[in-house]
Order: sequence, then C-alpha cells, then structure tokens
Amino acid sequence: MFGDFSSNCADKKVTPGKKLSYMTEFSNLGLDPSVLSAVEAAGYEKPTPIQIQAIPPTLEGRDLLGIAQTGTGKTASFVLPMINALIRGRAKARMPRSLVLTPTRELATQVSKNFTNYSIHSNLSMALLIGGVSFTKQIALIDRGVDVLIATPGRLLDLFERGRLLLSGVQIVTIDEADRMLDMGFIPDIERILQLTPFTRQTLFFSATMPPEIERITNVLLSNPVRVEVTRRASVGANITQIAVIYKTMNKRFEFKEKRQLLRQTIKTHESSIINGIIFCNRKADIDTLLRSMRFHKIDCTAIHGDLDQSLRTKVLNDFRNGTKRFLIASDVAARGLDIPLVSHVINFDMPVNPEDYVHRIGRTGRAGRNGIAITFVNFNNIKSLNEIESLMKSKITHENHFEKKAATTAEFQNDRSQQLRPKNNVQNKINSTSKTKKRTPTIGMGDHTPAFLTTEFTRQSSV
Ligand code: ADP
Ligand code: MG
Repeated sequence: MFGDFSSNCADKKVTPGKKLSYMTEFSNLGLDPSVLSAVEAAGYEKPTPIQIQAIPPTLEGRDLLGIAQTGTGKTASFVLPMINALIRGRAKARMPRSLVLTPTRELATQVSKNFTNYSIHSNLSMALLIGGVSFTKQIALIDRGVDVLIATPGRLLDLFERGRLLLSGVQIVTIDEADRMLDMGFIPDIERILQLTPFTRQTLFFSATMPPEIERITNVLLSNPVRVEVTRRASVGANITQIAVIYKTMNKRFEFKEKRQLLRQTIKTHESSIINGIIFCNRKADIDTLLRSMRFHKIDCTAIHGDLDQSLRTKVLNDFRNGTKRFLIASDVAARGLDIPLVSHVINFDMPVNPEDYVHRIGRTGRAGRNGIAITFVNFNNIKSLNEIESLMKSKITHENHFEKKAATTAEFQNDRSQQLRPKNNVQNKINSTSKTKKRTPTIGMGDHTPAFLTTEFTRQSSV
C-alpha cells in the first residue's frame, strides 16, 4: 500500500549501520501498546527514517529539531510520542496539556485527523483551534479540558486574550513547518505563545527546510536539543522528477496570457500521466483570472487562496482531495504540509518567491515514497532564481527550452489576440483602422501631437 521510504532517502551513501536502522520495527521504539496498535491500524508496516530517529529521544523528554524530506512521515514523528507522553494524566478545564502549532488552518486540520487516527486506543481529547470558523464549539471543548490543542497562532492568541484558556499546563509544544513559523510574519506570535507556556516544557520543531538564519532562532527557543537531520536539509527525493520549462516573452504585458497558453500546452503534453495536479501562483488576483481562463478552456479545476471564506477553502480542498476536481490552482497556503496522497503533478505557474517554498510546493507530490512530477515555468530573464533553487537543493533540475516552440506559440497567440481585438461591427472597424493609419503616419517635425487636419491632408495627398 505504501511506498518504500528508504529508497526515498536522498542520502544514498547508506552505511551498514544505517541500513540496519531501516529494519527497525515500531515495536523497538519504546511506544505504548495502545499507540502501536493504532499505528498498525493505520497500515504502517515500518517506521520511516525520521520516525526511527526522532521518536526515541522525544520519548525521553528531549527537545528536538527534526529535518526530513517532504512526505516522509514527520507528523507521526511528533504525534506518536506526544500521545505516549499524555496517556497517563488527565486534562484540567481550560488548561491543555500539549500544543501543536501550524502555519495554515488546512494543515492544522490535517494534523488533527492524524491525531484522531493515532489515538484511537488512547482515550485522549483534542481541540482544533483555527480561524474562520465559529468559536462556540472550540470554547466548549476547551472548557471541558483537552489533552491536545492543535492550532494556528492567531486563533490561539485570540482565545487566550478572551481569557478562555491558559497555557501554563502545557508540557509539550510542537511547531510544525518550523522555519515558516519562525520567519518574519509569525515570530512575534510564536515568541509570545512560548512565553505563555512553562519554562520546563518540551519543545519540538519539524520541517523539510531550515535556513541557517532561522536555525539560529531555534537555538534560542530549544533547550539542549537533539538535532535529527535524516536527509540534507531542503533536499528533494529522487522519486520527484523535476522539470523547468524555460520560456521567453517578448512583451511583459502579455506574459500572463502567454503563460496560460503554456500551461494548457503543458497539460496537453502530459495528458496521459496527469491524474491530478496543483498549480501554484504567487498572486491571488492571478489565481482568480487563471481559474476563469481554465474553466473557459474546459479544464476541470478549482482554486484556493487565503482570501476565500473558510467554508469555501474546506470545500475546495475536499473536492480536490476526493477527485471531484482534477486541478487545484493555489497560493502558498497549500504549499506547506498538505498530504494529499495521490497528487501526480505540481506545476509552478509562477516561480516561488523563496527557494525554500519551491521545496515545499513540489513536496505536495511524491508523498510516502510515491512518484511525482514537478514542472516549473521559468522566464529566461529570471533564470537566476532557478539557479538559487538548484544551489539550495544541491541538485540539478532538468531544463526544457520552450524557445523553439516559441515562434509557433507567439504567432498563434497574436492570432488569438487579433481575433479578440477585432471590433464587432463594420463601422467600429473603419473608425479603428482610420485611427491606426493616422497614428502610424509620420509627420516630420511635429512629434506625436499632429493636428488632425494636417494628418488628413497628408493622407489625402499621399493617396493621390
Ligand atoms: P511530512 O510531514 O514528512 O511531509 P506526513 O507526516 O504528512 O509527511 O506523512 C506523509 C504520508 O506518509 C502520510 O500519508 C502518512 O499517512 C504516511 N506515513 C507516515 N508514516 C508512515 C509509515 N511509517 N509507513 C507508511 N506510511 C506512512
Ligand atoms: Mg508535515
């Protein structure tokens, strides 16, 4: 059912000792029998490398920084030992015993589902605190007392400020997608939340990427941590085939339209292998336009970004997850952590702003050792950002030039455009063609501001 994680390990220089570690069973990791039976029910046969290396020190109560490739089971690496630690003990009203923080509501929801699966035999309670949904149910759960709180930082602080919860009983804090959570936007909230928890808490950070400047912050927040780096940070498994389609554009103004055409062409080329795909864009307005354009061209798709109402975000993601929609056009709200097992393709319609984002975006395919294809559109003039990504990953992406096809594409595109610009009736057509002739007719020494009567005169004369 599941792929082979060991073959997904980018560190190909596996020492015999390491090879043995792949043979480790879940039962060797020190987990409680109730947790082990939930793991078995989830269908996991062997722990993944990050699970093997992160679970035992976490069970010992150590702080930990865990780095492993996308789709290699980091969630279970922190949720299983967390359940283990909480089995004994009881939750008090308004005082959660553990906390998991994620950057997006969708990821928090997904982690909560993982928790539910892994805790089927453990009798622990959980509350999911995310923005965009009603407070009432969340407050009622916290009032009763929960063992685990899974939250996005904004909603958590909101409830804290309303006096609805206390964080002084938190024993374990996990921050998933830690580098994202510790960058400019989130860091004040994270610092504040950590200050509200006891100094003696256990802290766990996980991610597939960890820029050095962010790791410096983790050193301040973690206490004497175990550092587990299963594969070199920001590396991508060989199970994801990466292609960069390099295009040139003659006119910046038409780039978006040309790219839309390139996208349709790419989908056509890969038609036989695309089961479904996530198409990443950088701007929300472009997502809306691209969605309309794709629908106009009868391509089955839906779209998600942070400005949409939460109920719509949830519906859109469900439609994509269950195969009702074939393509999901998305902002980076879908770049981190989402585990949709059968995504066959990721297409970067726009180059991501940070090289790290590239690693996370393409990590939405090739989950749990499966194969995936990642295609990135790169403007020839912006090739530098592709080099940055390659140097971050320390590996090369296959470059595919779109230049040769370009001539044909441009001609086709211009054709398209003239069709669109063609006025609907003949009168309008005549007015347009006259004004075009006027504009193009040079009148020496008069600049652009040629009085109309002079141009008329000139045109008449020349036509005689
Ligand atoms: P990551 O956080 O590293 O990106 P996830 O925790 O989302 O990865 O897990 C990716 C997928 O792998 C999930 O579908 C999960 O159910 C599955 N998975 C996790 N651990 C195992 C395991 N030991 N064996 C098989 N599949 C696993
Ligand atoms: Mg994850």
